[in-house]
Amino acid sequence: MDVSSLTLNRLSLYLRCLRTLQEEGTERISSQQLAERFDLSAPLIRKDLAQFGEFGIRGIGYEVDHLIDRLHSALGLDQQHPLLVVGMGRLGTALARYLGFNDATFRVVAVLDNDAEKVGKEVGDLTIRHTDELEEIVREYGVELGVLTVPAEAAQPMYDALVDAGVQAVLNFAPVSLQLRPGLPSKSVDFRIHLEELVYFLLAKED
Ligand code: NAD
Repeated sequence: MDVSSLTLNRLSLYLRCLRTLQEEGTERISSQQLAERFDLSAPLIRKDLAQFGEFGIRGIGYEVDHLIDRLHSALGLDQQHPLLVVGMGRLGTALARYLGFNDATFRVVAVLDNDAEKVGKEVGDLTIRHTDELEEIVREYGVELGVLTVPAEAAQPMYDALVDAGVQAVLNFAPVSLQLRPGLPSKSVDFRIHLEELVYFLLAKED
């Protein structure tokens, strides 16, 4: 199924909201209630969810547990995806720890760096390995996802190395526009862009 990136972002947001409701013990919710509670659009929720089948009951709403399960399987989040993080500095270490190393969806199987001083040190349950071992690690664990937290100048060579080693998707945190390989999903994250957007809104408010 072809689902746009915007829709995917919204589905992830719905999932987060639904998990909150699940933790609170809510069993059922209508699209209207979901929209009001989390400041979303009810028609858009119905339209987005309808792409995955009819699981809302008119007048009753959605069963929270069931909807979470359906979204998980539709988005491939019910399977564990092995990932590695390259660049074990401040951000890479924090991210690897945040990802929890081993949850139902993501499993950090390796953390890598090219600094001999860092190789061999522990981050959580993992030992930092040298980037020279990249290909072997990707093959050994069937790594699907790579997270890049290296300095800007190292990002493109490391992106290429990840792809050549067989990694199938990359999340890049370095502040560079990567030359991407066609057909290989990649995303770049830069919180500065979001901060700059907020500053623009602040300015617009002052006008
Ligand atoms: P850092 O200097 O603490 O860590 C960088 C690490 O990468 C070091 O451990 C270094 O040894 C390693 N490294 C360098 N070249 C490498 C290579 N070729 N292969 C493997 N490892 C290599 O830097 P940091 O503060 O953790 O930031 C990391 C990156 O993330 C930078 O590019 C920074 O600009 C970016 N960043 C992005 C965001 C964001 O919102 N996207 C936020 C903070 C930092």
